[in-house]
Amino acid sequence: MELLRTTAEMTSWREERWREGQIVGFVPTMGYLHRGHLALVEEALRLANQVVVSIFVNPTQFSPGEDLEEYPRNLERDLELCRELGVHAVFAPDTAEMYPEGFQTRVEVERLTQNLCGLHRADFFSGVALVVTKLFCAVRPHLAVFGEKDFQQLVVVKRLSRDLNLGVEIVAHPTVRESDGLAMSSRNTYLSDEERRSALSLSRSLLAARKLVAEGERKVDVLVARATEMIETEPHTRIQYVQVVDEETMIDLAEVTPRAVMAMAVFVGEARLIDNMRLWPD
Ligand code: AMP
Repeated sequence: MELLRTTAEMTSWREERWREGQIVGFVPTMGYLHRGHLALVEEALRLANQVVVSIFVNPTQFSPGEDLEEYPRNLERDLELCRELGVHAVFAPDTAEMYPEGFQTRVEVERLTQNLCGLHRADFFSGVALVVTKLFCAVRPHLAVFGEKDFQQLVVVKRLSRDLNLGVEIVAHPTVRESDGLAMSSRNTYLSDEERRSALSLSRSLLAARKLVAEGERKVDVLVARATEMIETEPHTRIQYVQVVDEETMIDLAEVTPRAVMAMAVFVGEARLIDNMRLWPD
């Protein structure tokens, strides 16, 4: 496995792979890898014969006051995990390499970023769109695997790849959960034992909403009220949003449709956790 620290190194690695006619798969991450990330890597290894993982905590997607400094990092451990899985290259640039002096270009995806996380994290999606564009240009993968856990991000990246003719096929991977239902996240390390118990209310409330839909409930108000109540009764929780949107447009729904997704962001202690689920019965 090669560790590439600069865009120049990344570019020459992928040019060689393209010359050899290899299929390059890509998994962008902010590191501190968990089983969710590793499932994405395994999917990429199934679909491509050369796999690149990037590890970069991207400052442009954090707003002032968010957890950029505290975000957990452990490059040595991440490299070991990638090596064990059979990853071919890790691209781990530093901030100066990605955003050198004088950098001033922005990438905006307009409508899809107006709702949900975009309403609450002012810089988030422009930061994500910028870094994903830069990473795609450096890696030039045939395909990239993203998690449904960050479901709005996945839809934004699909749009971006299409709109800018980046030519990268975006593959979605289902959310990987702990056995008790908690969606895996690098930010789960912020949780105390008691907070972790409260955090289970996210997945439990999503399952409860799904169950109500399976029993015939179609009114979004009712589903949101039920989920909100289940989360708010737990200690240390503060809801940022609980919404039901169309999975393609991100527009709020009043009635559940086959494309309805319930999405939520909840602070549990200091940790801002997100989760989502399709509501329509399989
Ligand atoms: P992050 O390091 O949090 O930026 O995530 C990198 C990639 O891993 C994104 O595509 C996420 O959607 C994906 N991811 C993170 N957590 C999970 C999870 N629990 N299940 C599936 N994918 C995940």
